[in-house]
Amino acid sequence: MSEQYGHWAEAGMSEQSYEVLVEKIKAWGRRRDINNPATQIIKTVEEIGELSAAFLRREDMSDAFGDVLVTLIIQADILGYDLRLCLETAWNEIEHRVGVTENGCFVKSEE
Ligand SMILES: [Mg+2]
Repeated sequence: MSEQYGHWAEAGMSEQSYEVLVEKIKAWGRRRDINNPATQIIKTVEEIGELSAAFLRREDMSDAFGDVLVTLIIQADILGYDLRLCLETAWNEIEHRVGVTENGCFVKSEE
């Protein structure tokens, strides 16, 4: 465990926990002055394209999933969003959502 991440360890998180990785990625983006949300959203779309290509070619999608998340983590940091809170808000909205699953796809009921 490096000295730099000691405070995360004290909080019970491993050096490579999701939370620590998010902080490392945010710091990486800041060191490189990645601060333009308009170009960053294009990076996200680019990486979504790579994710789609990996799926369609039946290739391993691990790298593409990771790259999409990196672009979103940096975009949220640029715009001042807490992605954990965004995820929690989304979960709270979908947790009790009513609908049907057709052909493996959930279709929510109109209320
Ligand atoms: Mg990529």
